[in-house]
Amino acid sequence: MNILVINAGSSSLKYQLLDSENHDVLAKGLCERIGIDGQIKHTPTGKDDYRSNIPMPTHSEAIKAVLDLLVSPEYGVIKSASEIGAVGHRIVHGGEAFNQSVLIDDKLMSVLEECIPLAPLHNPANITGIKACHEVMPGVPQVGVFDTAFHQTMPPKAYIYALPYEYYEEDKVRRYGFHGTSHKYVSQQAAKLLGKPLEELKIVTCHLGNGSSVTAVKYGKSVDTSMGFTPLGGLPMGTRSGDLDAGILEYLMNRHNLSITEMVSVLNKKSGMLGISGVSSDFRDLDDASSQGNERASLAVSAFTYDVTKLIGAYAAAMGGVDAIVFTAGVGENSADMREEICSGLEFMGLELDSQKNKVRGVEADVSTDASRARILVIPTNEELMIAMDTAALVKK
Ligand code: ADP
Repeated sequence: MNILVINAGSSSLKYQLLDSENHDVLAKGLCERIGIDGQIKHTPTGKDDYRSNIPMPTHSEAIKAVLDLLVSPEYGVIKSASEIGAVGHRIVHGGEAFNQSVLIDDKLMSVLEECIPLAPLHNPANITGIKACHEVMPGVPQVGVFDTAFHQTMPPKAYIYALPYEYYEEDKVRRYGFHGTSHKYVSQQAAKLLGKPLEELKIVTCHLGNGSSVTAVKYGKSVDTSMGFTPLGGLPMGTRSGDLDAGILEYLMNRHNLSITEMVSVLNKKSGMLGISGVSSDFRDLDDASSQGNERASLAVSAFTYDVTKLIGAYAAAMGGVDAIVFTAGVGENSADMREEICSGLEFMGLELDSQKNKVRGVEADVSTDASRARILVIPTNEELMIAMDTAALVKK
């Protein structure tokens, strides 16, 4: 079945058309500047790329432009829109209402809207994408796949914050965790790679990219994860601070006369790798700067790898052992140095990286020595494929 996977942002819309049976990507692309003017970049497999400026006052025009291209004789990959069996939407926050992907109907739309306050920057755009598809492709089943859903199996001791309990009960403040689709996908792939049932494995999955999170996946279920109520929590990231002592906020806001909005913007956009290094949020830039002797760039990278190492140790303890560590996303898949640095702190646990095998980029590989007590794996993530598979499974039901 052909599945159109949609990831709608406030002014952008990423798409992929995939065959859920053989996992082929038929086409992918990106609409940008929606609501401003409108640009599309379309990449059909086996044909030339197409770029154009197309007016996109709303997401509906963007979806129409995508459908027109998918069926166009020159840049298309299908004959008619009826060859699209279903649409799978990435939705950032499903709150406690969604612990798995769901077929979207009118009743669910209102539940989705109730989740807006939990992710005011992301969920409204995701919902706009669903409404646009509904308008442009009436009758085609639509499925919501949530970044938070995989983590809904966490036990209360892992998700509760030590705040007055009514903030959890009334305001839904708790750890939700994100990147769930990625953690789920790579843990499933890890089990396949190891030739063992997922239900028998304790895996720490490290999604290390511009945004980063680490998850403890015990017997196929997320039991703890580093991001929290929002994606600002956990590890320091490209521009996000990650966890910090909340007492810092009052101190800095008073000293610099910052409003809460300004403070939170600093935590989201000016902190993390960019904040420490003063150079860049991008790990490749930090590598370059640190090899030229920039100490703050080196400090940023070591603060990051140190925290990842600590989390792996913590999650091994949380699960009472670990069978595999998985590295994924931009940094995890591509940076041999970073994997080496992170794993060098784990030798006390019997984990041993093989430096020769570790010389891989962007491919599935076991990079541990034969003697290592747990496998160290590199597994490229594929959130679009996971969304397509979830969508097809629900529609076939
Ligand atoms: P996003 O969270 O935006 O999806 P990605 O998963 O694409 O991010 O990761 C982007 C990050 O991966 C960037 O900081 C980039 O520098 C880093 N990255 C990509 N390739 C390498 C590499 N070879 N070495 C180090 N970092 C890399």
